[in-house]
This record gives sequence, C-alpha cells and structure tokens, in this order.
Amino acid sequence: MADSPKEHYAYLTFHGAAGEVTGANFLLEIAGKKILVDCGMHQGTASEEDKNWVPFNYDPKEIDILFVTHSHQDHIGKIPKLVRDGFKGVIYSTAPTKDISALMFEDALGLMDDAAQDRNVKPLYEESDIAHALSLWKVIPYHDKIVITDDLSALCYDAGHVLGSSMWEFNFKGKKMLFTGDLGNTPTTLLRNTEVFEEPSFLLMESVYGDRNHPEEDRRDHLMRVIQDTAKEHGTIMIPSFSLERTQEILFDIDQLVRANRIQRMPCFLDSPLASKITEIYKKYPDYLNDEARKLSRAGDPLFSFEGLKIADTRDDSKAINHAPDPKIIIAGSGMMNGGRIVHHAEQHLGDPHATLLLVGYQAAGTLGRVIQSGEKRVNIHDQQYDVRCRVETISGYSGHKGSDQLVAFVDDIKRNIERVFCVMGEQQSETFLAQRLRDQVGVHAEVPNEGDRIELFF
Ligand SMILES: [Zn+2]
Repeated sequence: MADSPKEHYAYLTFHGAAGEVTGANFLLEIAGKKILVDCGMHQGTASEEDKNWVPFNYDPKEIDILFVTHSHQDHIGKIPKLVRDGFKGVIYSTAPTKDISALMFEDALGLMDDAAQDRNVKPLYEESDIAHALSLWKVIPYHDKIVITDDLSALCYDAGHVLGSSMWEFNFKGKKMLFTGDLGNTPTTLLRNTEVFEEPSFLLMESVYGDRNHPEEDRRDHLMRVIQDTAKEHGTIMIPSFSLERTQEILFDIDQLVRANRIQRMPCFLDSPLASKITEIYKKYPDYLNDEARKLSRAGDPLFSFEGLKIADTRDDSKAINHAPDPKIIIAGSGMMNGGRIVHHAEQHLGDPHATLLLVGYQAAGTLGRVIQSGEKRVNIHDQQYDVRCRVETISGYSGHKGSDQLVAFVDDIKRNIERVFCVMGEQQSETFLAQRLRDQVGVHAEVPNEGDRIELFF
C-alpha cells in the first residue's frame, strides 16, 4: 500500500542554541517517534545560566531516543535533568562520549550547589539521576546503523571536534537529515578529520565562527617559542586550559616538543583533576585518534606523558607547585580563568615580569582571561588588586571549531541534494553571516531559526 502524504512529514523544533552558542537541544518528530539531538546546558552570563532552571518545553516522558553529538556541557549538561523529569528512552553516543560525559556530570554536580543556592532553587539533578542516565545509555561505533523503524535509521560520523565527537545522520524514506554538532578545526594534532559523507537533504549546522576565520599559524611552533622565551628568563608559564581536548592537545604538543628536543627539560604540572581523568579516557581509546597519534601510541609513546610531567591531584599538590623552581609550566583550569585552580597561580605570577600567561582558547567577555587579554594592567581577584606585569600571549590555533571558510567548504562538499540548511549554535550575528555566505557562495537555501520555531520538513 502506498504511503499517505502525511507520513512523509517530519517536524523539527529548536529548543536551544538558536541565536546563541550554548544549550543545544533539538526535537525531531519523525516516523511516529520523538527524537532529541543533544540536551545541553546554557553557559555564559548569569541570566543565560538561569535558563537551565526553566522547565523543558516538551514532556521528557514522551521522548523515545536521545542522540548525543559530544561531551561538552553545552551539549550534554541537562541530560540528568531530562532523566529526573521523566525521560525513560534510550540514549546513544560513541563510547568515549559516554565515558567523558559521566565525568562531566560529576564535575558539574560538584559546582551546582553554589549555583542553586545563589538562585534559591534546588540543584538541576543529583547523583542518582546521573546513574539513571548512564543506565539508559548505549554506545555505538561510527558508521554502525541503528534501525529505529522500517523507514527510519540513524548513524554517526566523526566530527573531529573532541574525542568521540559525532555528527548524527537520520535516513527517513531514503532522504537524509544531518545534525553536525560542533565541527572540528580540521586538521588537528590528535583527532581525525571531519568526515565527508553522502549528501543530506536537510542540514542543521553549528555556526560558532560563522563570521570569522582563524589566523593561520603553526601552533606547535608558537607554543615552542613561548615556552623557550619564558624558560630563558627562568619564569613560569601559566596555561589556563579547558579540560576536554585543549588540555590533551597541549600535552601532546609538549610531549612531541620534548621528545624532539625542541624545548629544554622542565617540570610541567597538570593541575586539573577533571583534565587528568579525561586524559585517561584519551589513552583508553587510541582508535579514535588520527593516524599519526595512533601510530605513536602503538609504538609505545604514551602520548600525554613525558619526562617532567607531574599530576597535581589534591589541593595541597596544587599549592606545592608554588615552591617548585622556575622555569616551569602550569596547565590548570578553568580555560577563561573565571574560577578553578588557575586563579591562585595567577595571584602568584601575574606580577612577575619573567612569567608568561599563555591563552589558548576563546575568552568570553567578562571573564578574567578576557580582561587580561584586552591589556588591563591591574585586575581584581577575590576583592584584591593585582598588577599584571607578566607577558600575555595568545595562540588562536588551538580553537576547536571550524572557521567561517571551512564551514562554507564543508557545505559546498555535500550540497548536491540540500533543500534547507539551519544555522544554529552560534551568536546571532555569526549565524546570520554564515547563512548569507551559504546562500551567496554555495547557492543553498540557508536560514537562521528562532528558539521555539517548529519547522515542517517533507521527506
Ligand atoms: Zn563542543
């Protein structure tokens, strides 16, 4: 019997990350199923974070499946809350994404009491919700097909953004829709390149750098110069770093520089318990790394540990770093210096003209990292004033996202069947700029949806 036309329609609703970077949460009603892609936290200013406590705009009990693209908080952070609010379906991701997500949930839980107290509300979830979420979670390798109904299947491709990161493709009645998640700044030192795949009809894509490109530079050379220059002056190199991907790339690059004798031997402290645990997961899944890293791993290179590397687990370990002789390297969270152990190192060394603060990631407005990056010579930390006399350096090459030209090229490669492109997961102006470029230069129908929009798609 032929299908009725009604059976060919699907509905896509943008429940977050439309006109903003964080809070990815997309609902696809298709083949009689309710499917979510990502369930992330809103991050940034206090008013953005307030949105995490707003109830879901759909009934979590009615959701059949949640597909997860990768383990950054803005893509996974509200999964335990979804479960707490009644979700009983299945969660799918790659194995590294599940393992890293478990660490991320625990870490966020540790910080959540304060956030909830400030707002006079209950925490978003508790320990038992994390365990429940993980019990519903199945892992699947790249390219393995998940059959959802006779007409609908799903599979994931490598996005090259962080370990285990995926794009999810849905095939319904022979037509395809792709959710990119975040797309990596391919090629990277550790990960495989973003995969190119068969042409989708509908594309929902990230737009973080939709309106700008990254400067071209050899980041490992730049890192080497900064380390050598500071070492000559017997100073301390402070690297505020995100726990996932950035830290492992920096460790890997330092490892390679040490092995090639391109920098002198000196102590390097990894002062972030979360980053240390995530690094163990990178070691557990060498098959998810690129050929070069995999080859080194097989040849016995531990990839992220080298002579001089010291792991600071406890607070006392962290404080003891102050007494270690210079030159030395300290890698500590948080990446934008708005908390975490990097702050007490900053208090120690910002005033030292022989020290260097090396910024390797995006610094959001209002964070201590951004204030120092913009050239402020006196900063306030814990209600005390500190002079900034150290060198301040930025390496932009470590960005984890594709720049604007790469995003355009990504769509150009797969444009043959494209009917509609939705630019999301970026600031409004970045999404708008990217959509314009895609229309003008690639000739596809690209648009910028608003939060709450429900769009009809014909398969
Ligand atoms: Zn991400």
